[in-house]
Parts: sequence; C-alpha cells; structure tokens
Amino acid sequence: MTATMKPIQMVDLVGQYEKIQEEVDRAILDVVRSSAFINGPEVKDFEQELAAYLGVKHAIGCANGTDALQIAMMALDLQPGDEVITPSFTFVATVEVVALLGLKPIFAEVLPGTFNMDPDDVRRKITPRTKAIVPVHLFGQTADMGAMMAIAREHGLKVIEDNCQAVGSDYTLPDGSVRKAGTIGDIGTTSFFPSKNLGCYGDGGAIFTNDDELAKRLRQVCNHGSEVRYYHDVVGVNSRLDSIQAAVLRIKLRHLDAYIQARQAAAAAYDEAFAQVPQLRIPERDPKSTHVFHQYTLRVLDGRRDALREHLQQAGIPAMIYYPVPLHLQKAYEGYGIRRGDLPVTEELMEQVLSLPMSTELDHEQLAHITGTVKAFFQ
Ligand SMILES: *Cc1c(COP(=O)(O)O)cnc(C)c1O
Repeated sequence: MTATMKPIQMVDLVGQYEKIQEEVDRAILDVVRSSAFINGPEVKDFEQELAAYLGVKHAIGCANGTDALQIAMMALDLQPGDEVITPSFTFVATVEVVALLGLKPIFAEVLPGTFNMDPDDVRRKITPRTKAIVPVHLFGQTADMGAMMAIAREHGLKVIEDNCQAVGSDYTLPDGSVRKAGTIGDIGTTSFFPSKNLGCYGDGGAIFTNDDELAKRLRQVCNHGSEVRYYHDVVGVNSRLDSIQAAVLRIKLRHLDAYIQARQAAAAAYDEAFAQVPQLRIPERDPKSTHVFHQYTLRVLDGRRDALREHLQQAGIPAMIYYPVPLHLQKAYEGYGIRRGDLPVTEELMEQVLSLPMSTELDHEQLAHITGTVKAFFQ
C-alpha cells in the first residue's frame, strides 16, 4: 500500500459523481428551476429511455424497490393466504412485502454456486395455494429464468423478478433469444437506491412489464388506485419517482454499460487472484447469464470467514456479509413454520459468504492491495 492510494470503500459514489458532476449538477438545477418536481417531463423521458434500454414495453417509476415489489403483487391481485415462493437468501424486502400483504412466503433453496433460487426446490414447494414465484437475481446474475418460466407455465403461476441487483444483465432463454433481466417474467422490479448498479441520489424504483393491461393496473396502483383524478377504482398506494431523481438517472443510464464493464473488470481481477486459492470459491457464472456484479461474493470454505474479514479491516479494506442471517431464521418471519436445518444450502452459505469492495471506481492499486491482503491471509 502506498501513501497515495485512495481509501477503499465498499462503493465509491463520490468518485463516480465527480466524473459526471457538471452534467448532473446542471440537470438537477434545471429541475429546480422548472419546479416540475412530481411527474415532470424528466420522469416520462427516463421511463421511455429505460424501457428502450431494457427492451421492454413499459417501465413505470416508483418510490423505491420495496414498493415496486409490493405494487407488483397488488397489481396481480394476489389474495391473503396465497403462497408466494421466494428465496430465503435475499434482502428482506422481497419477503417483507409478501408478509405485509397477508400472503404466505414459502422459502426455497438456492444453488450453492450462483446463490440464485434452485428450480428443483421451487418445484418441490408448489402446493394448490401457490400463486406466484419471485426469483431474485442476486448479486447481479440472472436466476435460472428458463426453468422458472417453464415451472410457471406448467402450474399457472405468476412470475415477479426481483431485479434490484441485476439491471443490465443479459439472459439467454432456451429458445436462444437474449433478454434483459427483469423483462422475462410477468413483472420485473428494480431499485435505484444509491449503491445499486443504477443508483440515484436518494430513493427510487421502477416496475417493468410487456403486458399493456398490467401496465395500466401498475400505474393505477402507484397512483392511489386512480386513473382519473379523484376517482379510485382499486386500493392503491402513493409511490412516485421524483423528477430530480429521474434527471440524475437519465444521465447515469447513458453510462450504465460502461459502469457494468468497470465492475466486470474488477471481478476479473479478483477471479484471477483467487481462482487458485484452495480455501476460496470465486462466484460461479451461469453460462446463460451475464454477471453485472452488484456484489463480488466469495465463499470462504475453511471456516475462517470472520477472521478474514477482520484481517481485511485491519488493512483498511471493508468487506461485508450479505446476508448474515437467512430470512427464514429471522425473528419477524419465525411464524411461517420453517426451522433451522430446513434450508441447509442457504444456512451453510450464510456462514461462508464474504463480499469484497465492488464499484465502478476501483483502480489497479486498490485491487492489488485487496487481492494481496486476501492471499497473504491464506499463506
Ligand atoms: C435493494 C433491494 C430491494 C429494495 O430496494 P429499496 O429501493 O431499498 O426499497 C429489494 N430486493 C433486493 C434484492 C434488493 O437488493
């Protein structure tokens, strides 16, 4: 480590901002001067540009990624008691909205290599009450959507893709067609939380669909259940993407592919350094999906994950455990009748995973310091 090395953060948002500062500052000021803060032209323009980028018919802005999931489930008219299959290895929001709507979360296993939901376990968890499955494209790689869609067709289920971590990931379907993550199921959802791959400067989210009727319904739910102002046909919520965030996102969307490449370059440097370390497993790639590396997550196989994290911290390197406790073992979700030991793959992964710094701004010197420090720990 040299004295000139930039301090290492999990995500370097300031460094990213500095490169687009002029453009972003001007766009924010333009919104302030126009005072079109809500439903301004920036929001419409961003929705259209995002839909074009993803190759989906409708992209609908909303307040955050958690709302996006809730609104998706409301628009599909899921009813209390309906079962929704989700992974337990995910951020809490995926399951929180299921519980909030009085639906029943059914937790499925993940695959140990990709951390994404295991289609065979989804099949095993289907009952006559199952109405929807929610694959999460964890850490930036698309779940096995070919298998998920086949299961959904067979059993008449709805598919909501939680795409909060994999915006821009490409997925090859069994027929050879390539689609963006979040545009394959009935509905896709995403988050623009600042640290996400396409992050804004506050909270934001979006919902995607190719279905015109569903798009109408989604917009209605977002807007107090109303299509004509002050007439409310269904119970809705208030969930909007504001114009300042949309203005920032329009600029960052133009850089998204370059941002993805920067993340993939950092991941390649990590791979090269760690592929031959016997105590580590580098993240497995599903050949059907590109990986956009929201996180670069190692498995530490020798039981010393926490000691490695400590060792890194001492060298000025942050590393995070996403996620320390699976959702089926969280106090809030104890009531769903699933116990320790029921999801052995998920439970073992939670003891092994460690996410290294990942951002668009990691330079060679920082990467060398991180990889050198990790390797020194095992020597
Ligand atoms: C971030 C995230 C969410 C929630 O997004 P917010 O915008 O923070 O509400 C939901 N699911 C997953 C997998 C996420 O990573």
